[in-house]
Amino acid sequence: AVRIAGLNKWYNDQHVLKDVDLHVTTGERVVICGPSGSGKSTLIRCINGLETAQSGTMVVAGREINGPRDVRAVRRSVGMVFQQFNLFPHLTVLENLILAPQMVRKVPRPAAVELAMEYLTKVRLADFCERYPAQLSGGQQQRVAIARALCMQPSIMLFDEPTSALDPEMIGEVLETMTHLANSGMTMLCVTHEMGFARRIASRVLFMDDGRIVEESEPARFFDAPQTDRLKRFLSQVS
Ligand code: ATP
Ligand code: MG
Repeated sequence: AVRIAGLNKWYNDQHVLKDVDLHVTTGERVVICGPSGSGKSTLIRCINGLETAQSGTMVVAGREINGPRDVRAVRRSVGMVFQQFNLFPHLTVLENLILAPQMVRKVPRPAAVELAMEYLTKVRLADFCERYPAQLSGGQQQRVAIARALCMQPSIMLFDEPTSALDPEMIGEVLETMTHLANSGMTMLCVTHEMGFARRIASRVLFMDDGRIVEESEPARFFDAPQTDRLKRFLSQVS
């Protein structure tokens, strides 16, 4: 579903992604962790074309990314959820969910509404469909953001620290939504520091440091038998 080879990116003269290779197969759930500034967000943002790399190849959802046309196509099949919920403040929850399917995928309004209510039910927020984002808690807003991404019926979901802006008591409900999604077979690439979540749902965990993927393995080995000193030190700091 995602195949990246030899990706390099610089911001001015700062080399932030260094020969990154990443292969995520359909249905896989890959968690990325690593220290601040190691390039996690930049990598995720390259995958849906919010950033462009200077070298390397990238195939996302079956399409090689070579220019703006590819980026537009890829955004239709890739859903993204950020740390900040990024809901449109002037639109109700329901309107937030039906906008892109109607505009981008040309779904007729009744079908878009039906799909939106289905996903709102899955995140247990159907009763909140007429509210505005400001009338919801942070955890509820993030669940709406997840439902909104799903309304585009993506084949891959990208998450960039979706719980790190939340009050502690709201983290659980968002992780629960993400766990349901993982169990439904969605292909997921997720930057998070929620190590318990990673251990439960990840098929593979990657550790990034200074622009490189330094270590990767299945969760039990990643957390219980880290190979590099760098990862050992990181794990002792976060857990
Ligand atoms: P965090 O855990 O803090 O979110 P991260 O691993 O996501 O960190 P990135 O946001 O990918 O790190 O940043 C990688 C490096 O690129 C950092 O040194 C950062 O300062 C730099 N960087 C990120 N975005 C930009 C930008 N738009 N312009 C210039 N430099 C940037
Ligand atoms: Mg980041």
